[in-house]
Amino acid sequence: LFVSFEGGEGAGKSTQIRLLAENLRAKGHTVITTREPGGSPGAEALRHVLLSGAAEAFGVRMEALLFAAARADHLDCVIRPALARGDIVLCDRFVDSSRVYQGVTGNIEPPLMAALERVSIGTTMPDVTLVLDLPADVGLQRARRRAGEEAATAAPDRFEKEKLEIHEKRRQGFLDIAGREPERCRVIDASLDQGQIASDILSKVVEVIGR
Ligand code: C5P
Repeated sequence: LFVSFEGGEGAGKSTQIRLLAENLRAKGHTVITTREPGGSPGAEALRHVLLSGAAEAFGVRMEALLFAAARADHLDCVIRPALARGDIVLCDRFVDSSRVYQGVTGNIEPPLMAALERVSIGTTMPDVTLVLDLPADVGLQRARRRAGEEAATAAPDRFEKEKLEIHEKRRQGFLDIAGREPERCRVIDASLDQGQIASDILSKVVEVIGR
């Protein structure tokens, strides 16, 4: 079973992945947790570049190609072998992040997005995608607090507001995908408390695997 977690910054994806892995292991399942960009040695090397200052000089197409290249390697080296062993794979971000970050707010035209998807993932899609949904301002606050920024509670300035608009677009982008693919995607209310979110997620996954 292949499960991806999606959502904006500060939605609590990594905490929930850890909790779901613990809950599933307690039920006797073999679980691996991984993340994007990255997840394999090659893709982690690309993550390092993509999240560094060097990437500021990259054009949007180059960036999109690198995310796709990292995903192809991650699938070949980690995800597909784990699925072939029968493990449950929990992945922090996958193709929907590209659809939203590069497609919706990154100005990559749909035909290129579709081509990159074909090349990078082929037919390997998550069985379940959990969209951790949170108002953009709440997510940004949480992410900033985590980063230890002092201004976490200050009123947003012009740039912060621009940032907020982009985050709202991304939130809507994830919700649109979930609306288009209701079989695969489940929207999770990420504003609830951690324990409630975790049991919501567990019940959704148990519903799919049947135990
Ligand atoms: O999940 P995490 O916050 O570690 O992701 C790192 C960053 O990479 C994200 O905040 C996002 O800005 C960026 N990203 C992206 N396109 C993707 C996946 C991640 O721009 N397809």
